[in-house]
Amino acid sequence: MSISEFNRAAGVFQKRTRIAILGPSAIAFAFFIAYDQFQERLESFLSTRFDSFTVDILTKLPIALVQIAAVVCIFWMYGRVKRQSGVRCPHCAKGLANRKKIVIASGNCPFCGKKVIEDES
Ligand SMILES: [Zn+2]
Repeated sequence: MSISEFNRAAGVFQKRTRIAILGPSAIAFAFFIAYDQFQERLESFLSTRFDSFTVDILTKLPIALVQIAAVVCIFWMYGRVKRQSGVRCPHCAKGLANRKKIVIASGNCPFCGKKVIEDES
């Protein structure tokens, strides 16, 4: 693999990683903002039917569920990005994209030390 090929593949990996982390976080954040407008009305609606402890749990449950869903989604999407576009060492199969600067500077795998970048000449 040449430096430019590695650089391109590592760039794609890093871009997809950012999307995998920021996408679910942004959706969860938008939900929290929208839910904040709605929470007081839900609270007053539920307080006519349940005691204050149950109302507290029921109004905070959507926030907890969305947070858990966002974290699960981030792990799932990041695992998928690693499988699909992670640049791997041909010798030890460890991911190289997060060690981009070391690999480009040395031309070697930072884990096993073997050559992964061919000399361009
Ligand atoms: Zn290696």
